[in-house]
Amino acid sequence: MPLTGLDIYKKLPKENCKECGVPTCLAFAMKVAGGKATLDECPRLDEQARDELGEASAPPQRLVKIGPDSDAIEVGQETVLFRHDERFHHPTAIALTISDAADPDALKGACNDFKELQFTRMGETTHLDMVALMNESGSEESMVQAAEIIQKELGVPMVLVSTDSQTLASVATGPLGSRRPLLYRKGEVTVEELTDLAQKAAAPLCVAGDIENVAETVAALSDKGVKDVVISPGGAETAETMTFLTVTRRAALKKKFRALGRPVLAVACGQDKMAAALDACAYVCKYAAIIITDIWDPHLLVPILTSRQNIYTDPQKPVQVEAKLYEIGEVIPQSPLLVTTNFSLSYYSVEAEVEASRVPARILAVDTEGTSVLTAWAADKFSPSTIAAALKSSGADEQVEHHTVVIPGHVAVIASQLVEDSSWKVLVGPKEASGIGPYLKNEWNIG
Ligand code: SF4
Repeated sequence: MPLTGLDIYKKLPKENCKECGVPTCLAFAMKVAGGKATLDECPRLDEQARDELGEASAPPQRLVKIGPDSDAIEVGQETVLFRHDERFHHPTAIALTISDAADPDALKGACNDFKELQFTRMGETTHLDMVALMNESGSEESMVQAAEIIQKELGVPMVLVSTDSQTLASVATGPLGSRRPLLYRKGEVTVEELTDLAQKAAAPLCVAGDIENVAETVAALSDKGVKDVVISPGGAETAETMTFLTVTRRAALKKKFRALGRPVLAVACGQDKMAAALDACAYVCKYAAIIITDIWDPHLLVPILTSRQNIYTDPQKPVQVEAKLYEIGEVIPQSPLLVTTNFSLSYYSVEAEVEASRVPARILAVDTEGTSVLTAWAADKFSPSTIAAALKSSGADEQVEHHTVVIPGHVAVIASQLVEDSSWKVLVGPKEASGIGPYLKNEWNIG
């Protein structure tokens, strides 16, 4: 039975010192009861009270760390079902499969390819997080050797997948000793064997199966002190995986059902890579903490990483760039000047098109509190007066000799007022960013 805020409050120091970042002990107790804070955040709580409150006050979904403390990937401890209620906290970790049956040169080649899989979008570089080392050789020796090579070449956290507990233990205590890989023991296995494996390897486990069996196993492991557990529907079909993801999240957060309060690992693999990529995108959006995938094609990885980038932003804070004058390429005083808002997506769309056009240009990002062109215009944040003020404060007045600014085609209606407010010449550019390249090459003309 989960503790109420009042149960927790009774055990707190009641000093209202605010060291936990909350104004009162009562408010802190309510946050703990709601799974939005942990007892560790109160430095004044004594050990006895901490023990008494114990598991009952733990967050509804456990935080699991994979990898060494200095470089660990954290998954779980999510607090809401819907992103707009607060935000999702720990982005889905993407683990790319590598087979231990590959020879050493092929393994090194795969590691080099892994390093190349980085993509920049909206000013942020996204990449893959982990390797899922698959014991396809069936040999303990091959698994140990492959782990050694990957650890040396990449050093990223790993998921080890095998049907043999001894093989997992050998890798986790051998080449990956102290690196806390996630141990995914496939196939029939007893609680005793899993407990033994977790204790020997001092690493987190993945428990896979249907929801009932997973809940029973997690509860039994918890009784034996093995709590760092990730749960999974294994290689189930898409619909079953989605059901597993949603049912377990609901059970943990709404019913406070501790046995299912664990981060979920989903598998998006198969011959049809396009279908696997679509699955992975759906799993990212619907609560997967880790995804194992065999997709190496960059064109299919980008949508998965983009889904993650979008879902794990704070919905209450528009993603924005600094409002200022940007120089793209080797600009001169006669280079074109385009104006847009400081909403990241707007700014980077314009920047990407200017870069692709190879016409050096300046971009003035006006502070619209991270809203897009039309939204900002409708809210009077991207208006003749705000643009005129930005032209002045950004230094554009001194740097742009021709005193001509190109505005987005969607706000052509503000052109004449902007001329009056700023004393600049105003040209109406294309409505969509995709038209910027042809515009700069064929139409930009201030003569
Ligand atoms: Fe109360 Fe502890 Fe928070 Fe201080 S840090 S206000 S004692 S809960």
